[in-house]
Amino acid sequence: MYLVLLGSPGAGKGTQAERLEEELHLPHVASGDLFRENLRNETELGLLAQEYMDRGQLVPDDVTIAMVQDRLQRPDCDRGAILDGFPRTQAQAQGLDKMLADMGRRLDGVLYIAVPDGELVRRLSSRWICRQCQTPYHTIFKPPAKGGVCDVCGGKLYQRDDDKPETVRARLRVYHQQTAPLIDYYRQAGLLVKVDGTGDIATVSASLLEAARNLMER
Ligand code: ADP
Ligand code: ADP
Ligand code: ZN
Repeated sequence: MYLVLLGSPGAGKGTQAERLEEELHLPHVASGDLFRENLRNETELGLLAQEYMDRGQLVPDDVTIAMVQDRLQRPDCDRGAILDGFPRTQAQAQGLDKMLADMGRRLDGVLYIAVPDGELVRRLSSRWICRQCQTPYHTIFKPPAKGGVCDVCGGKLYQRDDDKPETVRARLRVYHQQTAPLIDYYRQAGLLVKVDGTGDIATVSASLLEAARNLMER
């Protein structure tokens, strides 16, 4: 089962993917995490991506598609995957269709987590991420049990450079221009399930799990 989590920056994709990964036993494939991993390892791809990430812009489609394809071809994605942060443009959506078709697979559904912009800034300005396993936390909505330390792996938490308000605003503009059109694209393909993302984390998880299970039975 190949699922896409669609939603603006801060909608809760990473938070919810973690839960879905556990319940559905599918790997979580997050393009942003893959870029940050490349950045940490100072690969050529990482250095290229950084220029775009620092400005809140999208990394070019060709390198992004190649990176995700490489990830999906690893054996742990054989039974499916939960894609988070990819696709973000129409060209990437077409790239995804093509790479899955080449693997003899297809996309089963797109879970769209809907959250209004005002709420996103509030979420991102207090987001902390585990340096080791990328789990997201929030100082108010999801504090770690011990300050600055990841509940899952004991890693150190940090704030992303691109979560500062100017960059968040740039990312939201990019989202509305380039990614939001995918909502209609997938609705027309009959793949879209819209979920209200404004409730607390547990409520949104329950809605997403129900939606994912309905898709599995289809
Ligand atoms: P968030 O979870 O806040 O939406 P991500 O971690 O998904 O942010 O992405 C961080 C940055 O990485 C983006 O602002 C962009 O520069 C780059 N990026 C991630 N995914 C993609 C993608 N599919 N296409 C192009 N750029 C991407
Ligand atoms: P995305 O991957 O879509 O960019 P995250 O999962 O990283 O979003 O969530 C963004 C921030 O909002 C994090 O600090 C997270 O702890 C917090 N958050 C996620 N879901 C909720 C929710 N339903 N209510 C309040 N805060 C949330
Ligand atoms: Zn961790």
